[in-house]
Amino acid sequence: MNRRLFLFGSAAAVTTLAAVGLSGRKIASAAFDPLKVTTTYGHDLVPATIEKIEKTVEEWKAVLTPDQFAVLREEATERPFTSPLNNEKRTGTFHCAGCDLPLYRSETKYDSGTGWPSFYEAIKDTVGTKIDYSYFGIPRTEVHCARCGGHQGHIFNDGPQPTGNRHCINGIALTFHPDAGSGNVESESG
Ligand SMILES: [Zn+2]
Repeated sequence: MNRRLFLFGSAAAVTTLAAVGLSGRKIASAAFDPLKVTTTYGHDLVPATIEKIEKTVEEWKAVLTPDQFAVLREEATERPFTSPLNNEKRTGTFHCAGCDLPLYRSETKYDSGTGWPSFYEAIKDTVGTKIDYSYFGIPRTEVHCARCGGHQGHIFNDGPQPTGNRHCINGIALTFHPDAGSGNVESESG
């Protein structure tokens, strides 16, 4: 499963992996399990089958803002403390801004102090990872939507229990959908 999701990354990412080889990937991923899931939050929201969505660059540019395109399709990183989702405290689900697949539940969100929305786990089977060497050659675990491949952010092993993982996500790559009927008020964003 992981391998399949991994290969689902961009052609450039696959090329990078091929150049690095399998040994580097194993060393980097042996330290922790980036897709560890310990709760059932959001499992009921996952489609029975997650069919890949593929679009051309032009098609993506037609449906995404330039900033969303830069993050989701070109793996740019938003500036910290710029996303209104940093302060989103309501109960609900964070969806992929590219294809609307539910990726994170509010129960797993926490304040990491980094300036990016942070979660200790993704909803089961909704994200994939690959090793990313773009940061001074230091291996990092990139995380992306399992359906459209949209880049979300990175996963680090300094998060809180119960997983010990920190999914450091670009807020612009997510949209928030508050739960209905749980006391949430659909107020204007802010
Ligand atoms: Zn997606």
